[in-house]
Amino acid sequence: MSAEDPGAASGTVSAHEIVQAVAAGTVRARDVVDAALARADQVQAATNAFTELLPERARAAADRLDAARAAGTALPPLAGVPFVAKANLCVEGVATTAGSAILADFRPPYDATVIARLEAAGAILIGMGNMDEFGMGSSSESSAHGPVRNPWNDARVAGGSSGGPAVAVAAGVVPLALGTDTGGSVRQPAAFCGVLGFKPTYGTLSRHGVIAYGSSLDQVGVLARGALDVGLVMDALVGKDANDATTVEVPPTFAAAAREGGDGRLAGVRVGVVPELSGAGNDPAVARALDETVQRLRHAGAEVSEVHVPSAQAAVACYYLIASAEASSNLARYDGMITGVRVGDDAEGQEAVMTASRGARFGTEVRRRVLMGTFALSAGHVDAWYGRALQVRRKVANELQAAFEQVDLLLTPTVPTAAFRLGERLDDPLAMYLGDVDTCLANLAGVGGISVPAGRDQDGLPLAAQLLAPALQDGRLLRAAAVLARGDEPRIAPVGAIEGTA
Ligand code: GLN
Repeated sequence: MSAEDPGAASGTVSAHEIVQAVAAGTVRARDVVDAALARADQVQAATNAFTELLPERARAAADRLDAARAAGTALPPLAGVPFVAKANLCVEGVATTAGSAILADFRPPYDATVIARLEAAGAILIGMGNMDEFGMGSSSESSAHGPVRNPWNDARVAGGSSGGPAVAVAAGVVPLALGTDTGGSVRQPAAFCGVLGFKPTYGTLSRHGVIAYGSSLDQVGVLARGALDVGLVMDALVGKDANDATTVEVPPTFAAAAREGGDGRLAGVRVGVVPELSGAGNDPAVARALDETVQRLRHAGAEVSEVHVPSAQAAVACYYLIASAEASSNLARYDGMITGVRVGDDAEGQEAVMTASRGARFGTEVRRRVLMGTFALSAGHVDAWYGRALQVRRKVANELQAAFEQVDLLLTPTVPTAAFRLGERLDDPLAMYLGDVDTCLANLAGVGGISVPAGRDQDGLPLAAQLLAPALQDGRLLRAAAVLARGDEPRIAPVGAIEGTA
């Protein structure tokens, strides 16, 4: 990276390279941010990845850092690195819509802890990433801001619900982004866009200031193009938060774990392939990518064997029950009274206004989830639906725990297919839901998972594989991801249609 070419500086290089260049004075934080914003404009026109860009806020932060450096002040660890935040992470004074028309007016009076910590580490927020409304979706088509397009092929979805953040990283706007993952929303769009997507163990990252979807499942995650960058962000974010009682004290050893993988070796590491998830039901290209990942793990010295998770296929039904039940409760607050846009005539009475506000401002998918969740929790049905789902959840978690007594990591596809066509699943919610079969296990069990790129299909679309680790052993994921990182494929999405593949 050089001062003459900061255009290449923002996203096309890694966060750790930007940190070094800014600290050494070869480039100004301001130049990095200007380049990121210029690229963001192009990418926005082609993909709709952002709900809002924040040029003034970002430039002011960059100028403060450049002034601090000029004054000889020591710079924080991620100084000058531009990033994007999913639009469900509260940023003081910035529209945080969670992709919903009911939050069109919401400008939070405080920052989410993850935003405050990343900015305190010197990273610079340049924009808010578009997403499925309230995180409910697997394609980023259910946003009040319009659908997000895949940067490798604009006829395809970006994945969801963190589609905007994934596009921003894949298309070289920024080297890293924050998303949230309730059932796969960081890992699945990462897979569709060809970047890394990491969901740590439940409780690792604070959810203070994260707009809640399913509180027993929600976790903040990181999207980046390299494992070391994921590690650097994690080290800046971890640590107990008095504002989120679910957080645990996790040491900042993630970058070190990623560096360990720099030697390309995984000697003695035991990896289990899950037959229940690796067979029929996957596209042939996904199955091939999984086989190739097995070969690469073996080549690095890992011992790969089969490990059964007998109830794996039941997880997705159980996930949708629990997630919808929790969503119906969390979304009850959006009633146009204190929270959410108010629609209708106050003279009609409170209930009429609440009904009008929710009816007018929630999208189709959110309404479907609220109805499903309310039904599953209603008296007379709660034992048969929600209660059963909790039992299946426990069973899946126990089976994963038993699997981790035999192996250090599990390997599965991230998604059974590559990015599907825009519109293809909008009228078929079941097909949309079934795409989460591989990712939702980690959320149900509370363990960490990472999606790593694994080549391309015949149309040039990214493929991916997922690794899972036991609770609080997330360093293993970053080490293995660093080993699997491929140096031989195009890293930055060109944005737009790949010729002849639409
Ligand atoms: N696709 C899943 C859902 O719609 C997961 C979403 C997420 O992780 N936020 O619930």
